[in-house]
Amino acid sequence: MIRKTDSSLSLPFSMKIFAGIDIGGTTMNIGLVSEDGQVLDETVVPTCPEKGPEDALNRIAESLKQMLAAHRKKDCRGIGIGIPGLIDTDKGCILEASNLPGWESFSIIGHLSAKMNMPVFIENDANLAALGEYWLGAGHGADNLFMVTLGSGIGGAILAGGKILKMHPSAGEFGHMIIERSGATCTCGRRGCLETYISKHGFERMFREKQSGYPMSSVKPAENEPVSPQLLAEHASHGDILANLIFLEAGEALGIAISNVINLTGVTCILVGGGIANAWDLLQEPVMRSVERNVFKSILSGVSVCKAALGEKAGFMGAARLAVDSVSKHAREVL
Ligand SMILES: [Zn+2]
Repeated sequence: MIRKTDSSLSLPFSMKIFAGIDIGGTTMNIGLVSEDGQVLDETVVPTCPEKGPEDALNRIAESLKQMLAAHRKKDCRGIGIGIPGLIDTDKGCILEASNLPGWESFSIIGHLSAKMNMPVFIENDANLAALGEYWLGAGHGADNLFMVTLGSGIGGAILAGGKILKMHPSAGEFGHMIIERSGATCTCGRRGCLETYISKHGFERMFREKQSGYPMSSVKPAENEPVSPQLLAEHASHGDILANLIFLEAGEALGIAISNVINLTGVTCILVGGGIANAWDLLQEPVMRSVERNVFKSILSGVSVCKAALGEKAGFMGAARLAVDSVSKHAREVL
């Protein structure tokens, strides 16, 4: 367990604190955050999804109790949780999550709130990363915001006036926006999705398709060795033509997809986060060129596209903000 505590933070006795948890397929990020957005404590624990939701939630509860004991003067009012999948926020359970097989229908809210004796709220993780960036990151206070999360897959979330915009739990499948109608087959079974360009398997696909045409390329993976976006980024930044061409295509595809969202919704603050966004230096130019070419001129002057600021902390910070908002909404309804 990695434990990081900022002992220099000294909060007033009466300051309310909230817990934010970001559950991923491999690790769970847990943070204690004050109501005004200061991170008091954070830790990372393995998810071990194969052991099931009860085991993972019991380990979350154990970590939270340890963290709260270390901050015993503070008053924890609620817990927010981000989940990588489709969520029933009212019932507090997962409908579909490919990284958490077998977790469907288990009452996450019921189990953890009974263990911790405080209210628990859940939401899709991409939505909460956007909420975290809106609260404390690169989208701080933006009227409207669209956040793209680039990782193994692609997430997308829109906030309007600080509220998550969704009309169906399956909404926000930004990675499966079709860029090329006769393009490569995607993992979803359709053709030409954004993920066939800019995702872990998208980069791999482009490399395998192009490598024979670039025998001088310095990217020479051993047989069966995967070609990760990180590896391609290293070679691209050293001037490799093939690796640069792949980032050019990926950036153009991302720019087309972002342009479609801007033209459809009028959103003007666009943030790009997730592991692949670490290669933003390589993506920025083709993304911006594509956005300038494809967005209507009347909207374009107000558009900004930049890298997200909070990195892997965005998820648990957004989860804490979900708890802050949900608890205060409940208090208003009771009055
Ligand atoms: Zn797809």
